[in-house]
Amino acid sequence: MKMIIGGNWIDKEEKIDVRNPYDNSLVDTVPRGRAEDVKHAIEIAVKGYEINRNLPVHERISILKKTAKLMQERFEDLAKTIATEGSKTIREARKEVGRAINTITISAEEARRINGETIPFDSAEGSENRVGYYYRFPIGIIGAITPFNDPLNLVAHKLGPAIAGGNSIVLKPATVTPLSALKLGECLLDAGLPPEILSIVTGYGSEIGDALVTDERIRMISFTGGVEAGEEIAKKAGLKKIGMELGSNSPVIVLDDCNIDEAVESCVSGAFWAVGQNCIGVQRIYIQKNIYESFRDKFVERTKKYKTGYQLDEDTDMGPMITEKEAIRVIDWINDAKEKGAVVLTGGTRQGTLVQPTVLENVPPEAKIDCQEIFGPVVSLYKVDTLEEAVKKSNAVNYGLHGAIFTNNLNNAFYAIKNMDVGGIMVNDSTDYRVDLMPFGGVKKSGLGREGIRYALEEMTEPKVVCFNL
Ligand code: NAP
Repeated sequence: MKMIIGGNWIDKEEKIDVRNPYDNSLVDTVPRGRAEDVKHAIEIAVKGYEINRNLPVHERISILKKTAKLMQERFEDLAKTIATEGSKTIREARKEVGRAINTITISAEEARRINGETIPFDSAEGSENRVGYYYRFPIGIIGAITPFNDPLNLVAHKLGPAIAGGNSIVLKPATVTPLSALKLGECLLDAGLPPEILSIVTGYGSEIGDALVTDERIRMISFTGGVEAGEEIAKKAGLKKIGMELGSNSPVIVLDDCNIDEAVESCVSGAFWAVGQNCIGVQRIYIQKNIYESFRDKFVERTKKYKTGYQLDEDTDMGPMITEKEAIRVIDWINDAKEKGAVVLTGGTRQGTLVQPTVLENVPPEAKIDCQEIFGPVVSLYKVDTLEEAVKKSNAVNYGLHGAIFTNNLNNAFYAIKNMDVGGIMVNDSTDYRVDLMPFGGVKKSGLGREGIRYALEEMTEPKVVCFNL
């Protein structure tokens, strides 16, 4: 595919291969964009902002609704694109397409709820004759940068609210998975989006990232990705808004008063969804001691049933990791934990990019996997005496995106809700739960700000105060 700049499909002599991570076969190529392409896209986005801020809200709504309709018509092609350029199985990819359609639909709905409010100016002495209000106006040009693991829906989470709010956007999708983003861009253009409003520049973050992040015409960087890149971007961005959706190593607490079978089923799915390449994937499970063995044995038995293989086969439960380099890193981390005393209960091996779903126990605090983000199909089980101990250990990391607790005791649930340092807590569900309209984001190194359409819209618009002196 070509990249989209101001509605034109632009090619370049230099290309980047898009490969299927399962067998490294060539899926397509995209142009290797350079800093000058980003600059050109920003120049067009300046006009795009003028166009979108003046576009009546009902027109933005109808473009977004039509986009959702086109996505529905192209459903299977979008799902195959996700499952061919990326790691997800076709079943996981279909779920992502459904969610992305929902994200764009909710963006259309939220566009009519960008409300302000009246301000009680006369509450201040001397302002008795003032009346007024604030309304929200678009922030300007948004630079969006997205990761590989949800290559369609995480792009929809930036484009939908940005367009609904009256902004223009320059998007840089992940280099390994640019096709899903380009196809969403195509849907938006086909739905009648004025072409100056959206550009999608393909290229390496290391080569074109700075041109986007440091440009003063960009008023907000909306980034989803790893902590390392997030910190680098935050340092370089200068005086502009930043939204950061970063990583985590999500903890789940399993208490002896819960339904163990339900907890096992939910945690296995949460640990291995998208090959564990999931910012809210289950990584650490703290299990109360008197049910530890029972939970562990059921968990391992269920994990062993997982079928790893080709993403497009309907019966594959878990596809390949995104690159062989990533698969090798995951095995290195498992070996690091083993050398430090961890026991592999199942998995721990790989063939090319296929890493077997892996369950560890006795993981010591010195192991990387204990406190960093594995971003692979590996989960560690820990035996704990009390809820208090589990919460303390859950919090003993630099991340805090989602946490979860399985319990049928309300007091235990509320203790965890109050004391777990996270952006969202699931009760009787794994950390891998999200609907697209909820406020989503983390504390500590898991991020800054919130997404989830309405909340992204707040970040992507600003209040303007209007005051009449009567
Ligand atoms: P990544 O390596 O940080 O890359 C994310 C995006 O940033 C890519 O488009 C990448 O471009 C770009 N990039 C990298 N360095 C850059 C720089 N210096 N300047 C500008 N852009 C730069 O992350 P990933 O491996 O794709 O995704 C995995 C990470 O994303 C995990 O940590 C995961 O937890 C996190 N994530 C968070 C959420 C959330 O909502 N909280 C959701 C999904 C994923 P290239 O592709 O060209 O390198």
